[in-house]
Amino acid sequence: MPTIAHFINGAAYAGAKSRSQPVFNPATGTSEKSVALGSADDVNTAVSAAKAAWPAWSKTPALRRARILDRFKNILWERMGEMAEVISSEHGKTYDDALGEVTRGLEVVEFAIGAPSFMKGEFSENVGTGVDSQMIRQSLGVCAGITPFNFPAMVPMWMWPVSLATGNTFILKPSERDPSASLMMAEWLTEAGLPDGVFNVVQGDKAAVDALLANPDVKAISFVGSTPIAQYIHQAGTANGKRVQALGGAKNHMIIMPDADLDMAASALMGAGFGSAGERCMAISVAVPVTDVVADALIKKLIPQINALKIGPASDRRSDMGPLVTEQHLNKVRGYIDSGEAQGAKVLVDGRAFKQDKQGYENGYFIGATLLDNVTEDMTCYKEEIFGPVVSIVRKNSYQDAVDLIHGHEYANGTAIFTRDGDVARRFSQDIEVGMVGINVPIPVPMAFHSFGGWKSSIFGDHHMHGMEGVRFYTRIKTTTTRWPSGQSQAPEFVMPTLG
Ligand code: NAD
Repeated sequence: MPTIAHFINGAAYAGAKSRSQPVFNPATGTSEKSVALGSADDVNTAVSAAKAAWPAWSKTPALRRARILDRFKNILWERMGEMAEVISSEHGKTYDDALGEVTRGLEVVEFAIGAPSFMKGEFSENVGTGVDSQMIRQSLGVCAGITPFNFPAMVPMWMWPVSLATGNTFILKPSERDPSASLMMAEWLTEAGLPDGVFNVVQGDKAAVDALLANPDVKAISFVGSTPIAQYIHQAGTANGKRVQALGGAKNHMIIMPDADLDMAASALMGAGFGSAGERCMAISVAVPVTDVVADALIKKLIPQINALKIGPASDRRSDMGPLVTEQHLNKVRGYIDSGEAQGAKVLVDGRAFKQDKQGYENGYFIGATLLDNVTEDMTCYKEEIFGPVVSIVRKNSYQDAVDLIHGHEYANGTAIFTRDGDVARRFSQDIEVGMVGINVPIPVPMAFHSFGGWKSSIFGDHHMHGMEGVRFYTRIKTTTTRWPSGQSQAPEFVMPTLG
């Protein structure tokens, strides 16, 4: 059985090989490969390589760094199908969905290629007599990225393109559930001309993460994953003096106002709730129709569309939705539907009943799309992130009740409102306490040149990812104040210098 291992200092690296775990194909439920689980020694080897590469890389002209990323981008355009195939085989998402995630990652590379422009500093002449002042952005050193299973290409690319473009070196610790895309990125970066040691991959689990958190040469950590781990990474990383941005879980609500275009809203909800089997941090998992009339009309439109969903493996290009990532996760999602039902929710469409009968895929981790009605704030299936194809309907009678519902939830990643009323939409986007807001847009994921991030328990740390927030996170500001001998020279000054 082949083992997916690490990539350190420009080459594949087998490492300590002390621990490994199987990597499953979620569509078949079988495993034909395993992934190495990196040891602290493996992590420290990667950090040493990245530390050694940093002085030269950080002083490489930004334009030259950008040209390497540009070559990588061209390779990725050509081979994105290859990467999408691998993602589908380890994650389970459909091929087109995998292509979509690779494209969204590539867009961050396109943004990062603009580094020579956004790394420009500021200069003021004559801040004092004969005194000039300049501000520049410099890289931090070795940075690390720890990423979740649900976007094995896009989420790492939220991080490393901006980190490398701004002069840092990088260690990626991808999810152990779908590790192969990370090695494709590493190999293609090397092919694009990236010097050895600038980008490294260490596979693994908590042991590798803890070694990154403990290593004093790691200056910054970007994390995306579930909230408890995000909180842990933020606490441990900042206690060790590192910069940390840690994005966590989500429960995204979509309000449907009485004046909404209901066909548009229903179709948006289908894609946002069940696309990628609901395993997206921006998935809509709660629909909040305002008034029972809207709720009933929405349900009438949703049920036939749910029943028409094609649930199957990525190898069948007609599939709308693939399996869940692991058997354990499948059982967890089933458990949330059980608990919703037990606590009084009405199961309008029951995904637990779905059976995959396609030959060869009977043991895949498939579940059908599920629609729960009459869900209330106190139910476990409302309070917790399900991360599966389950949409809960929470009925409300007014706009304000719907907004209060959203404000009562601990997560605040994304949200959307469907309405034709500009006043309501504007009020919503201004007042809602959520990081990313859609007006008639169900999954308002910002483009690469804007920044991605939620609020409240959906983020720990101050900086969102990519765009200028990414640049701020991966750089520190240095201000140099200069006076030459021809400038005014004075006797020693013992008071705070001022312009007088
Ligand atoms: P996860 O938290 O289980 O794992 C994320 C990463 O942390 C992985 O690399 C994993 O190896 C590592 N990890 C897991 N347990 C750890 C531990 N105890 N100590 C140290 N490291 C540990 O998340 P997941 O299941 O891979 O991904 C799904 C979660 O990610 C969902 O909660 C989803 O909402 C969230 N997510 C959030 C965003 C966002 O932008 N806010 C984006 C994508 C996914």
